[in-house]
Amino acid sequence: MFKALLVEKDDEGKTSASVTEISEDQLPEGDVTVAVEYSTVNYKDGLCIGPGGGLVRNYPHVPGIDFAGTVESSSDDRYKPGDKVVLTGWRVGENRWGGYAQKARVKADMLVPLPEGLTTRQAMAVGTAGFTAMLAVMALEDHGIKDGPVLVTGAAGGVGSVATAILANLGHQVAGVTGRPETADYLRELGATQIVAREEINETTKRPLETETWGGCVDAVGGAMLARVLGQLQYGASVAAVGLAGGANLPATVVPFLLRGVNLLGIDSVMQPYDNRLRAWQRIAKDLPMDKLEAMVRPATLADLPQLGADILKGQVQGRVVVDVNA
Ligand code: NDP
Repeated sequence: MFKALLVEKDDEGKTSASVTEISEDQLPEGDVTVAVEYSTVNYKDGLCIGPGGGLVRNYPHVPGIDFAGTVESSSDDRYKPGDKVVLTGWRVGENRWGGYAQKARVKADMLVPLPEGLTTRQAMAVGTAGFTAMLAVMALEDHGIKDGPVLVTGAAGGVGSVATAILANLGHQVAGVTGRPETADYLRELGATQIVAREEINETTKRPLETETWGGCVDAVGGAMLARVLGQLQYGASVAAVGLAGGANLPATVVPFLLRGVNLLGIDSVMQPYDNRLRAWQRIAKDLPMDKLEAMVRPATLADLPQLGADILKGQVQGRVVVDVNA
C-alpha cells in the first residue's frame, strides 16, 4: 500500500480530495511503474483536484499532471529499474491517474529520461509550467526574437516565472506583466528588467496598432491582454500563446497580422513528440539558472494539495510549488 491524493465523487456529484492509502493493483495499466518522488501544482491540477472541469473522465481519480521519480519496474527495453525519469503531458493526471501518489504506472512512450545535471526535485521545480515556458522560448527563437524587450504576461505565475528566468539568462531584456505589484522584487531577482502593471496592458483600446514595443512575448494570460499585445509587437515579432488565465475570448483584429506581419504561435505541452520533449528538457538543464529556480520554489506535501488547488485557480500561487509525495 502507498499514499495518494484520491479525488472521489459522491452520489450527488460532489467531489472531495483526501490523502488515502491505495494498492498497486489499483494503478492503471502500463509498461513502467515509477516510484514517484516529486510532482507539482499547475492550473489543470487545480481543476482536477476540484470538480474536474471536464478533464477527469472517471472517479476515483489521482490528479498530478507531472512527476519525476525512479523506475521501479519496466517491461519496456528503454527503461530499467533505477533509471530517473520525468513525465509531463499525455493527459496523465487528467483522464489517467497521475503524480499525486507515491507510485504511478504509465506507458514508456510518455516518459523522458531525466537529463544529466538535473535532480528529480529540480525537474519538478520546472514541471509542466517550466517545460511549457521552454517550449514557448524555443518557438520564439525559431521565428526570431526582435530587438527590444520580450514581454512575459502572468509573470509571477508558474509559466511566467520560468520564462522570465530563461529569457533573462539568454541575454534578453524582459518586461514582466503582473497584477501583483508586491512580486516586483521577486521578478527582478529572476532577471526582469521592467515591471508592467496588469492594468496598463489590460485596458482596452480602439487602436489596432500602437507603438512597436515588444521584441516577442510569452503569454500565459490570453484574452484582452493578448489582443492588446498583438498591436504592440515590433514588425515581424511573435507571441507564444501558452494559456488563458485571463480568459479564452480573443477580442483582436487582423490588422497586426496584415500590417505588422506578427505571428501568433500556439504552444501545447501535452502532445509534444519525444524528440522535442527531450530537446526542451536538455535546454532547461543548460539554460535555466538553478539558483533562480530555487528562488521560485515553494515546498508542499500531498496534504497541502486541496488548498493549493483552490489557490492556483484564483491566480494566488507565486512561482512553482514542488510536492514531495513522500513527506
Ligand atoms: P499560474 O496560476 O501559476 O499563473 C498564471 C498567472 O496569470 C497568475 O499568476 C497571474 O499572474 C496571471 N493571471 C491570473 N489571472 C489573471 C487575470 N484574470 N488577468 C490577467 N492575469 C491573470 O498558472 P501557470 O503559470 O501554471 O499557467 C498559466 C496558464 O498557462 C494557464 O492558463 C494554464 O492552463 C496554461 N498552461 C498551458 C500549457 C500548455 O501546454 N499550453 C501548459 C501549462 C500551463 P500575475 O499575478 O503575475 O499577474
